[in-house]
Amino acid sequence: MRNLLIVISGPSGVGKGTIVERLLSRGNYSLSVSCTTRAPREGETEGKSYFFISKKKFLEMIDEGGFLEFSNHFESYYGTPKAFVEKQLEERDVILEIDVDGGLQVKRSHPEALLIMILPPDRETLRSRLAGRGTEKPETIEKRLARADYEIEKSRLYDYTVINGELNAAVTEIENIIKREKE
Ligand code: ADP
Ligand code: 5GP
Repeated sequence: MRNLLIVISGPSGVGKGTIVERLLSRGNYSLSVSCTTRAPREGETEGKSYFFISKKKFLEMIDEGGFLEFSNHFESYYGTPKAFVEKQLEERDVILEIDVDGGLQVKRSHPEALLIMILPPDRETLRSRLAGRGTEKPETIEKRLARADYEIEKSRLYDYTVINGELNAAVTEIENIIKREKE
């Protein structure tokens, strides 16, 4: 069976992090840790949540071709370190939790990658999950909701769309997609 490069995307607050955590606890996947220039949120750990780096360092890594993909949104850069992903793929499936622009870049360089978009049951649910997480200021929540419309519009370019209504059902649906793709 081949190892898969699995891209999980979706609007901020939809539950990507929660879903990925479940996938990791139930299966043998490697999670790519991204680099970002945004400040850490409370509870986030260097090297686990992200590698928190300066904009200068980020731009140097772009020049060196160190990213599999990168994008710039919410006034910060986010990127997937290339070397880690390529190494891990030799051993097992690798999950990337990245935005749509990044996901579509990955599809261009790795057409065999599996792109899964997570969507909320509706907009109000998304708003209440984002607010309920308690990590964002009201104006940041509005920015993230505006970006959500863009992500939802691009979901048609993804291989699969999964609605995160009941958590376990969404995780099982994703596991079934992965199983099917590996056959
Ligand atoms: P993302 O990584 O997409 O930004 P998170 O995983 O941080 O989203 O989830 C946002 C909030 O929604 C968290 O408080 C999380 O506990 C909650 N959440 C995630 N999935 C569900 C679900 N299926 N039902 C209810 N709440 C959920
Ligand atoms: P957050 O600031 O909430 O952690 O992430 C904001 C957005 O950046 C989310 O949509 C998340 O998936 C995306 N993101 C995180 N890491 C990367 C990455 O390495 N590349 C890209 N393109 N997007 C990323």
